[in-house]
Amino acid sequence: MADTSSPAPNTRRPTREEAEQAVRVLLSWAGEDPEREGLLDTPSRVARAYEEFFQGYAVNPEELLQRTFSEVEDYDEIVLLRDIRFESHCEHHMAPIIGRAHVAYLPRRRVVGISKLARLVDAYARRFQIQERLTAQIANTIDSVLQPHGTAVIIEAGHQCMTTRGVHRPGVSMVTSRMLGVFRENSDTRKELMAMLNRPTIGELSA
Ligand SMILES: [Zn+2]
Repeated sequence: MADTSSPAPNTRRPTREEAEQAVRVLLSWAGEDPEREGLLDTPSRVARAYEEFFQGYAVNPEELLQRTFSEVEDYDEIVLLRDIRFESHCEHHMAPIIGRAHVAYLPRRRVVGISKLARLVDAYARRFQIQERLTAQIANTIDSVLQPHGTAVIIEAGHQCMTTRGVHRPGVSMVTSRMLGVFRENSDTRKELMAMLNRPTIGELSA
């Protein structure tokens, strides 16, 4: 699947000053005076925020999964990292998407450090996205790099372009999933995953 969220390689990256100027234009267009004292530093703050929001473009997601562990005593059960909170931005309105990802795979000899799965989610989330593509990219990368027996990614997220504008429907969340390998082909494996997802969290167990 083509990675359509990467910038075209021959596009010149605007300078920081150009980016700040663009923010001033938007402030004026919204009806503000960008020279007003309270707004003087806003363009540079927004540029810094953008560097943070969109760090994913500087990360190679495949490299994150290169270091694997093979001495896992023939562990052949599902590995699930659930409730990975992420922040992204929708590519249609540049509005925040806030959600949680559940990432699972059934290893074939190699496993990866769990923090790497969370970083993989961030690498794709910190870009302009649509939720369907975010879900597919995470699953496809795990599948192609680790080559497990199966990969499953489920994402639930709220889209501020839907809650704070347009149809104004707060509380609505969107759920997407991508199942590959045994999670797609074997309904028992899929059921096992769903049971793991529905189990109480450690916090709930000790409460
Ligand atoms: Zn949107």
